[in-house]
Amino acid sequence: MLTKIYGIYQKEVAAIPFACREGCAACCTQSVTITTVEGRAITAFLAGQERKLPPLPDLGERARPIMTTNELAADCLAGRESEPEAESPWIYEPCVFLRNERCTVYPVRPFGCRSFGSTRSCLDQGIAEVPEWLVTLNSVVNQLLEDLDRKGFWGNMNDVLAYLDKLAGGRRPEPGKARLLPTRQVPGFLVPPGEERMVNRFLEELVRSGGLPRDFMGCK
Ligand code: SF4
Repeated sequence: MLTKIYGIYQKEVAAIPFACREGCAACCTQSVTITTVEGRAITAFLAGQERKLPPLPDLGERARPIMTTNELAADCLAGRESEPEAESPWIYEPCVFLRNERCTVYPVRPFGCRSFGSTRSCLDQGIAEVPEWLVTLNSVVNQLLEDLDRKGFWGNMNDVLAYLDKLAGGRRPEPGKARLLPTRQVPGFLVPPGEERMVNRFLEELVRSGGLPRDFMGCK
């Protein structure tokens, strides 16, 4: 499932002239959020290479997300005010998988990493630039990944991996104490006028490939 979503997403964005180049790791910080499904893909990859999880710094409360993408979408669609974000949610410490400016779990890097990109160098400007439709598509994919991780959790990558590691060790960590939020179903997609065709094409392609149940097509 992850592979199909990632593959079709990659085809959609292939024509964007990203400035990102191998060896640039400006966005490889400990701010990445993932689902438990994505976390399991990473732990399986490491196990397949007989590698252990690297030490996972405990980032404390600053790593606790306020709400999932689908919770935020539900609020927006219902016209409710969402809880404001913490002042500076970004955590700038380098990702635990970064070595010599390269990702050591690249084949299974989560969607958060795949969707980070910029058409102008962030190193020069300090900010990323992407087409507006890509922001919409990234939000749709985040919503899908959350929904498809039924009964799973979502949170900071360090916290998700630490949680899975405890589970694998036979412990029963409490997700809330691990700063994880339960995943939610897609309440509907947030698609601005003019971008419906692009989103529909993407969803149809996913359904055709078997990467998505047909009932998602009625979601937006
Ligand atoms: S998992 Fe890989 S691509 Fe993602 S932030 Fe870490 S080093 Fe970068």
